[in-house]
Amino acid sequence: MRYTFVTLFSNIIKGYFEDSILFRAIKHGLIDIKYVNPRDYSCNKHKKVDDTSFGGGAGMLMSPQPLHDTLESIKHNNDNTYIIFLLPAGKQFVQNDAKRLARKEHIVFVSGRYEGMDERVIEEFADEVFSIGDYVLTGGELPSLVMCDAISRNIDGVLGNAESLIDESFEEHLLESPSFTKPQKYKEKGVPSEFLKGNHSKIRSLKFALAKCKTSFFRPTRYLAYKAEDRFV
Ligand code: SAM
Repeated sequence: MRYTFVTLFSNIIKGYFEDSILFRAIKHGLIDIKYVNPRDYSCNKHKKVDDTSFGGGAGMLMSPQPLHDTLESIKHNNDNTYIIFLLPAGKQFVQNDAKRLARKEHIVFVSGRYEGMDERVIEEFADEVFSIGDYVLTGGELPSLVMCDAISRNIDGVLGNAESLIDESFEEHLLESPSFTKPQKYKEKGVPSEFLKGNHSKIRSLKFALAKCKTSFFRPTRYLAYKAEDRFV
């Protein structure tokens, strides 16, 4: 998988790939990361990339020309690009999107800054538009990193143990059940005794029951959706 980050501030992103799982994925050639700065495509003699908005409003907007030329050049030089804009107004990014997008060849993440981007560029180039949640951040760099991380976990070979993906939260309606590691007793608190006995079918049904409790506590709406679906199977 190739990722291209279109951003005015690539340093915000770079450090994330210098350690741990995604660092290893790059080293093993499973993912490849590139950065393109729209400022390099600005036709303005001062390399300006923003301007005031028509109709008023606080703050500056990213101008169409640098973004347009950046994306046109990326598309011209690469086959099979899939261009994703990050916007608070976009569709909420969820686990099923991460799995689906892991099958793409080359994802281009476009990060806005300031008060956002001129709408015409989004209309022309976006294959999809995503938000990572109902709050406003200062730029699209963190949202694009969040998406890149979640997508990459679903690419074959990126996780040391592919079984980590099974039973994870959001794979189905239910969240993952609570987990425990050594020591067996920690600050007077033990571990559910069934987990220690090695009877796999009993452990499985306990985990299932705990996953239901956890989901109904933390995500009541998700739990109701699970119950509604369960009634029909
Ligand atoms: N004025 C815009 C609005 O009200 O929708 C917000 C602009 S925000 C300060 C600047 C950039 O950050 C956006 O263009 C987008 O790329 C990114 N951004 C901020 N919050 C985001 C979110 N929740 N999901 C995805 N991208 C976000």
